[in-house]
Parts: sequence; structure tokens; C-alpha cells
Amino acid sequence: MSYKQSLLFEFRAYQRPFRQTLNTRYGAWTHREGIILKVTDGQGRIGFGEVAPLPWFGSETQAQALAFCTQVPQRLSLCSELAILSTLPACTFGFEVALGNLTRDIHCADLKTDRYSALLPTGQAALSAWSGLWAIGHRTFKWKIGVAPVAVELAWLSQLMERLPLGAKLRLDANGGLDELAAHHWLDHCDRLSHRIEFIEQPLPPDSFKELLKLSHRYSTPIALDESVTTLDQLKTHYFRGWRGIYVIKAAIMGSPSRLKQFCRDHPIDIVISSVFETDIGRQALIDLAVELQSLLPNAPRRVLGLGTQQWLPNDGLDDPDWEALWQRLT
Ligand SMILES: [Mg+2]
Repeated sequence: MSYKQSLLFEFRAYQRPFRQTLNTRYGAWTHREGIILKVTDGQGRIGFGEVAPLPWFGSETQAQALAFCTQVPQRLSLCSELAILSTLPACTFGFEVALGNLTRDIHCADLKTDRYSALLPTGQAALSAWSGLWAIGHRTFKWKIGVAPVAVELAWLSQLMERLPLGAKLRLDANGGLDELAAHHWLDHCDRLSHRIEFIEQPLPPDSFKELLKLSHRYSTPIALDESVTTLDQLKTHYFRGWRGIYVIKAAIMGSPSRLKQFCRDHPIDIVISSVFETDIGRQALIDLAVELQSLLPNAPRRVLGLGTQQWLPNDGLDDPDWEALWQRLT
């Protein structure tokens, strides 16, 4: 990454408690931690970026990201090179976005609510939680599975599908937590729901590539890879090994957005851009990236963005589209 002028670099860490603990297969998640980056050039132009690590998905930890930011000089000298290791993908993303935002005046407008999927609470709570999200315009919902016995969850799914209006679509996310038998049960069940299940995400663990491929050939319900493809190198490997299903892109932990765009330019893939609970700064970067990728992938299915996560976070000012105000909150 290079830049041609002297920049002032600053950063501030944030911590946000989730309104409700997020129960995942990796355990309970209570706080989102991250870092806001700010670069200012000699002409007073400002670029904000965000580092939002997700260590259990293979990114650096918040402590490692903070250690990196602390050793970046406050004055970045003319034409210097900022070397960021590939072991720091969230930092790589944050710095590239911040430097890009220095010269980027216009952001893509926020999309309508129906262009985002909304994350439902895990388990039986989903059966009633969808209606408020439907009322504010969401039409695609995401539900984490693999946290209760298959028979119990399939019964909940049947109830959920009876209650959801016909225009609704459901994404299921197993976070790699099913065994092969359970995956067959789920996919068989989903195939009988006449395409109301948009896809099932990561039914098996990342080391089960051959089994995942077999499942994708056997069932009509599409399968999306997420944990299997947390880095751009993993994404490329899966593409060259023959994965033609969906790729979930958690761009904020995938490293350089420009390298991702370069790959997609040459290799048309079916993607879903997905949030890792960023502030408005990271969120806007994902919207811009999604719009750019859509123009690079004109024939790919138009999948709604996995960004419907704001209802999980507090009203703490970090979703403010006025980024200077957002920054001031962190003093
Ligand atoms: Mg997932």
C-alpha cells in the first residue's frame, strides 16, 4: 500500500455491548470490539476506516490489531510503504478503506431495507422475532442452526415457514456445526420447501470440502461456504478446486478489498457480502464494495446483503453516518 503525501494517522478503539448476547456455535458473544482509523492529508482531507476483527474466524485479535496500530507512526512519511502482514487481514481492510476514503467523496447510497437480510435470534425465539423485522421492510431472514437437536430445530423450521409470509426468504447458517447425517436431514427438508430456503450456509466444517461438494451436487437447495473461505487465498483455493456454489464474503476480515475485486473481475463467482457487526464506517465500505462487485459480476445472482445486524447493537452513536461525530464519541 503506498501513498504520495504526508498523512496524520490517528486511531481510537471502541467497545459495544450487544443488546442481547449473540449465541453462536463458538459460544456467547457479548461485546463487539474494534478500532476506528483516521487519516488526514496536507489539504485537510479526512479518510476514516475501521478494523473489526473476528479471531474465531481466523483474523487477528483486537489486542494484535491495537499493537499494530500503536506502532504505525503518527506521521506517515511521503511515498512510504505501509507493510501489513497477511496475518492482520482486518487491519489491511481498515487501512485500505481509510486511505481510499481520503479521496472518495461520494459513497453509494444506503440501500432499501429489503436489500439486507435480517439476523433472527437463535432457536425458538426466531418464531416471533421475524414479524417486527418484516414490518420495517426486511424480506430475507437469517437463522443460526445446529444449536439444538436436529428434530427439534426442524420442527421449529416448519413452524417458522408456516408463519412467514410467502414473499419471505430464509437463509440457514450452521456455522460448520452439522455432521453428515444431520446435513442430509436438513437439505432433504429444505428441498421440500420449494425454494423458500435461499441457501444453507456452511453445513459441515471447513475441512469437509469433498463432502460439501457432494452435498451441493445432490440437493437443489444451494450451499454457501463461509468458514471455509475466510481469507482470499482460501476463497481462491476453493474456486480452483471446483466450488461453484455461493461464497459468503466477510469483507472486513478478508484483507484487501482491491485484491478481492481483482479476483472477482477474472473469476465470476456467486457471492453474499456479509457483516461482522461493523460501525457505520465499515458498513458503508461493505455497501460500496457490494455495489462495485455487482458491476464486476453482471451475471451473478443479485443476493441481498448480510448486513441486517444493527438491531443487535446499542444506540451509542457508532452507527452515525456523520463520521466526525462518530469519532468524537470515542474521545
Ligand atoms: Mg456464516
